[in-house]
Amino acid sequence: MRRYILPAVLGIAVMASSPVAQAQPFELVDAPACVNNKGEPVAFRAVEGTRQPLAAGMARRGANGEPMVMRSNFAAAPGPLQQFIDRHECAHHQTGDVDMPHPPRNGPVHLMNEAVADCIAVLRLRHEEGYDAGRLMQVVEALSADMKKIGFPDISISSRVRNIESCFAREGGADELINARLGERGLK
Ligand SMILES: [Zn+2]
Repeated sequence: MRRYILPAVLGIAVMASSPVAQAQPFELVDAPACVNNKGEPVAFRAVEGTRQPLAAGMARRGANGEPMVMRSNFAAAPGPLQQFIDRHECAHHQTGDVDMPHPPRNGPVHLMNEAVADCIAVLRLRHEEGYDAGRLMQVVEALSADMKKIGFPDISISSRVRNIESCFAREGGADELINARLGERGLK
């Protein structure tokens, strides 16, 4: 099974030596439209009750092959971060990542897949949700805070933020990026 998890939680066991403050519950946002590169609709499923105290997403196929995004503890994240995670995970379906062999964790191919998914996510937020710089900053702040809590080094956080901000400023939309990605992979 191919799994893509928001890198905020990738491969890092959460080791809280002190009790983690209960996150403020936020209202769940509506899931976005999401269709994978084969034209299959992607289902979004809420997963609650895990010990992971932060919101996270995972893109995968279910036991019956159904493409899906697992939304884990979304109530722990403010709306803008929920919207970002949904579209980031959807991007792993749109680009065909989910059906490809998982590249070595944190290797260059994996990091590129994550950077592209972030890029697609913010372009969708800009075009479909009308995000401006102020709302993007809400995503960046919430994401950075979560990555820091999990123990990511500042350099990882700042390079991810730089990619997100430069993508948000680029011309063209998410479809262009998705099509280029599929073209590179011979998937279209
Ligand atoms: Zn990802």
